[in-house]
Amino acid sequence: MTEKLENKIFEPLFSIEGIENIEVYEEHGGYKALREALKMKRDEIIEEVKNSNLRGRGGAGFPAGMKWSFMPMDDKIEKFLIVNADEGEPGTFKDKYILSRLPHLLIEGMAITAYAVGIKKGYIYIRGEYEEYARILEKAIEEARRKKYIGKNILGEKFTFNIVVHRGAGAYICGEETALIESLEGKRGHPRLKPPFPANAGLYGKPTLINNVETIASIPAIIKNKGFWFASLGSQKNGGTRLFGVSGKVNSPGIYELPMGTNLKEIIYNYAGGIKKDKKLKAVIPGGISAPILKADEIDIPMDFDSLMKAGSMLGSGAIMVFDEDDSMLEVLRIMINFYHHESCGQCAPCRYGTDVIKKLVDKILNKEATEEDIDLIIQTAQSIIGKTICPFGDAVGMAVGTLVRKFKDEILDFLREENAES
Ligand code: SF4
Repeated sequence: MTEKLENKIFEPLFSIEGIENIEVYEEHGGYKALREALKMKRDEIIEEVKNSNLRGRGGAGFPAGMKWSFMPMDDKIEKFLIVNADEGEPGTFKDKYILSRLPHLLIEGMAITAYAVGIKKGYIYIRGEYEEYARILEKAIEEARRKKYIGKNILGEKFTFNIVVHRGAGAYICGEETALIESLEGKRGHPRLKPPFPANAGLYGKPTLINNVETIASIPAIIKNKGFWFASLGSQKNGGTRLFGVSGKVNSPGIYELPMGTNLKEIIYNYAGGIKKDKKLKAVIPGGISAPILKADEIDIPMDFDSLMKAGSMLGSGAIMVFDEDDSMLEVLRIMINFYHHESCGQCAPCRYGTDVIKKLVDKILNKEATEEDIDLIIQTAQSIIGKTICPFGDAVGMAVGTLVRKFKDEILDFLREENAES
């Protein structure tokens, strides 16, 4: 292991052959963090997670230790842990590496979390398309049960924790935590109004802690190396490393584990090998399709939650999508709005009607029937959705669509002019 890899959590493990099997995982230090955690006081574990500055890796970036501390600590109260493995944000493909290669790291993280918060039952809600990874997880859970890392009296202690893998049915909105809970309860995946938050009334009305796969899989490293070590890997208030998934027009697309706060330009040009065929960069979506797009001259920026927020975008799921000079932003807009229009659950009028209005306006542009006023109407409609819906999906539509159209209005106008000239 190189010195560089010692400051990483996932990459050193990804490179070990057979690491998805429990014996290999144990040989490389697997489940030692759980043994260590079981010797600690529960509030000491939560303190380590707080010190780590670990923030939710699903997209929202909420501090994990704070989220844990919202859970009631009374053991007489039934509580649940849910790992959100419904990786459905377009452009995002990081969690599947953990699910397929490091299922035991996730299980170990879940067991530590459950012990710290006093939870006896956990669920992994995995997207339906990840059938193969669900099978890998089920096998790993069985192995962990046989070795007493989960189940009754874990490692001889008075601690019981079981895990169930639940497969989703393919709705993007079930990645939103309250829609996920509804779906897990066997209902239609409609987001709930908050409050109450899941920490007070979640699954079956009981306190529920929901974290993303990468978040929970970071926990064993925090216990082994301590929270301040983890915090020191990243930038201010953004602890640890992050799995950045780079796709699009780069020479070396893939997953890169890098410190939080690594410069976006450096990720694209140094790690992902720069733009294919030496073309000019046009734009970058830095955190999955819901993250507002950045123009080529806006990418000299640290990839952490706060810096991206200040720049009017989001770190989101860490999925970096790169577009070059040949890519049509109108085509990106078409794909984006078709996706949102299809996936809106329809509960709130601004989201339901807003996505429909925008889709029709985009179709009008594509059919060469639109005017500049139609382009402005997309921006106004997008803006009118923000802050007026039950769940953040509406905000995502408004911000992602509105930003793209605002920043690339000239390109859309050029498209209309060219087409009009031809006709
Ligand atoms: Fe459903 Fe959209 Fe409202 Fe979210 S914002 S609850 S997806 S209609």
